[in-house]
Amino acid sequence: MIKIHNTNFELFLSEAEILAAVKRIAEDIAAEYKDEVPIFVGVLNGAFMFVSDFLKYYPYPCEVSFVKLSSYRGLTSTGIVETLLDVPDNIEGRDVIILEDIIDTGRTLQELVHIFSNTNVRNFKIASLFYKSEVYNGEYAIDYFGMEIPDKFIIGYGLDYKEQGRNLRDVYQINQTHMINLVLFGKPGAGKGTQAGYLKEKYNLKHISTGDVFRYNIKNNTKLGQLAKSYMEKGELVPDEVTISMLKDEVEKNPDASGFIFDGFPRTAAQAEALDNFLESKDMKIHATIALEANDEVLIKRLLERGKDSGRPDDQDESKIRNRFEEYNLKTAPLKEYYEAQEKFHSVNGIGSIEDITERLTKVINTLS
Ligand code: AMP
Repeated sequence: MIKIHNTNFELFLSEAEILAAVKRIAEDIAAEYKDEVPIFVGVLNGAFMFVSDFLKYYPYPCEVSFVKLSSYRGLTSTGIVETLLDVPDNIEGRDVIILEDIIDTGRTLQELVHIFSNTNVRNFKIASLFYKSEVYNGEYAIDYFGMEIPDKFIIGYGLDYKEQGRNLRDVYQINQTHMINLVLFGKPGAGKGTQAGYLKEKYNLKHISTGDVFRYNIKNNTKLGQLAKSYMEKGELVPDEVTISMLKDEVEKNPDASGFIFDGFPRTAAQAEALDNFLESKDMKIHATIALEANDEVLIKRLLERGKDSGRPDDQDESKIRNRFEEYNLKTAPLKEYYEAQEKFHSVNGIGSIEDITERLTKVINTLS
């Protein structure tokens, strides 16, 4: 086991296994291209080791070049892939073989196919060392791959976790038994967002606030924002199917997280069940649901106060606030029983100083195994 940026990884593939796969791909490609002079195009940064070893196993004349793409991980529901180092010159009429370290959802691959479709290459093919066939949802059929691997975050042999780990000779996978996934539960104004801000630092967790994701999308006028806007303005819940698929997206965008704080999700029984099923499919689970308790009168005062600074329309009008409480009582409060049945429900007094409340939450989290 190794630790990088406070996250545990365990050995997954040895250098010998990796090199055997690289050699296999090189031999397959060599058999097909021995009469041509192909150009191998490595995708930086992750593929540099693969490209290096691949070329050592490739016995015939060839050229090598690189492209660099950056996949932006933000709050948007569609990842934006940006070109940082463009296609090489003089590829007109040539045979291009792209060398990728790993293909997962296919987002980067789609961009590569798009970039190379706009050039006058004679033909291009894709060779990837690792291939997550379970999560790949692109249309392009991968021409060559070294190994099919499960949907776990991996590092080493060129692949990084927050830029570290690229120099490892073996490949390691994230150790998900060391994850902590928490649901912060409570009425609007209970302090979920504030506390999540502290807990995510303390425990190195990724904070997903569904309300924040919706507000970000409304601000940027995305399709998701347009869908959510009318519901949010009235203090009603956004429909489950929209919210659930958005939440899944947010989790999938962070395959390297060492745990999540779900803030404002789940808010309905359907969401709670969808979350359990989704996490199970990834070998993950919720460890605890922690409720911040406070009475309505305190909460209304807090929300109206917050509304003065935040400008949130749903915080500025008492009738909208009451509507949010009604939605909570009707749809969200019953989840207490759902999590009690799983022995995961913990209740914490949400009144007091911010530090005192963080301390109460920390006590609960430190008892989790
Ligand atoms: P919040 O910031 O958590 O108070 O959420 C603000 C608003 O976003 C809510 O009143 C809902 O309209 C919407 N919203 C946030 N999370 C959810 C969810 N899990 N399900 C449905 N709607 C949600």
